[in-house]
Amino acid sequence: LTERQLLMIPGPTPVPPSVLLSGARPMVNHRGPEMAKLMADCTAGLKRVFQTQHDAFILTCSGTGGLEAAVVNTLSPGEKALSVSIGVFGDRLATIAKTYGAEVESLSYPYGAAADPKQIQERLAADTGKEIKAVLITQNETSTGVCNDLATIGPMVREHGARLIVDGISSLLAMDSQMDNWGMDVVVAGSQKAFMIPPGLCFVAVNDRAKEAMERCTTPRFYLDLRKAKQYLEQGQTPWTPAVPLIWQLGDALKLIEAEGLQNSFARHARLAAMTRAGAKALGLTLFAADESRASNAVTSIRRPEGIATADLRKLMRDKYAVVISGGQGKIKDDIFRIGHLGFVGEKEILAALGCLGLALKEMGQAVDPAAGVAAAMAVVGG
Ligand SMILES: *Cc1c(COP(=O)(O)O)cnc(C)c1O
Repeated sequence: LTERQLLMIPGPTPVPPSVLLSGARPMVNHRGPEMAKLMADCTAGLKRVFQTQHDAFILTCSGTGGLEAAVVNTLSPGEKALSVSIGVFGDRLATIAKTYGAEVESLSYPYGAAADPKQIQERLAADTGKEIKAVLITQNETSTGVCNDLATIGPMVREHGARLIVDGISSLLAMDSQMDNWGMDVVVAGSQKAFMIPPGLCFVAVNDRAKEAMERCTTPRFYLDLRKAKQYLEQGQTPWTPAVPLIWQLGDALKLIEAEGLQNSFARHARLAAMTRAGAKALGLTLFAADESRASNAVTSIRRPEGIATADLRKLMRDKYAVVISGGQGKIKDDIFRIGHLGFVGEKEILAALGCLGLALKEMGQAVDPAAGVAAAMAVVGG
């Protein structure tokens, strides 16, 4: 019964029932007055979420489309970009930039580690000729469950002068992300992560520095041309027909988000992540993040226990307990499993997931007290 499944993957995430229903309305003219009002409300709400005074655009495509929009609008063929990658999504952003002809230099870290701000600063300081025009980085690397310290890295990049392009797809709302204060020039987010709506939309915020680059950028672009998006947004429209039901859902999800408040949302995600880590450790598991202080508030990556295949554990969790968790991605696909805790989730989902994980591990022959995870997670929140 998929309706009873507890979906604990780092996107798509569960959608609140009220938000699900708000997608089920009679269609309207996407160039009519209802849509213009909705677009204006959503754009204003998104700017608050991005913590920016600048422009935010709603694009009908998955998160990767937003990354592609960031690249094709602000990075020209032959321009040099420094890719700071700590996992699959950091690599993806670099690949998109290379695909469109940028000259990409990689500063890569082993999976499980966060980027070292000092090394980034040193690399930028050595670039006295200011050849590096852009830095590409992921705030929350969903594939490894590690997040980068953008509060430190952002101002360093700004001091150098390169544009900072940030994949914030799984970080926005799950952790603080201050676009303007931290000096991020382009930030991308996706609907199916902490925004609590289904997949299909992405959001791209650009500041004046990025807009200036946009005007000069020589990369060919059509569907994802943000100059067109800007022109149409002034009339409350998008250049092409948008996923109208998803934008209704976004409007209602943003109301829930405003009601909770950004700081409360960050605190909730931090609390759920702390519960998950404590529970995993109490079940005798090892976290994948090399430094727990950089472990993600959106998703927890856990090493596969000796003697257990990730796929088998995930299957048992899904088939017997209706708890759906993720495996790894890329080269660590079979080495870890991941529990997503972003968006429409609370304490009870974490406790249920950890309880079922304990049962599954025991059933698979691990010498473990199946209740230990729940007890440790409860202790985090005062139980
Ligand atoms: C989910 C995710 C993406 C990719 O999004 P799609 O919607 O699958 O294209 C990119 N980056 C990060 C960090 C993500 O979590």
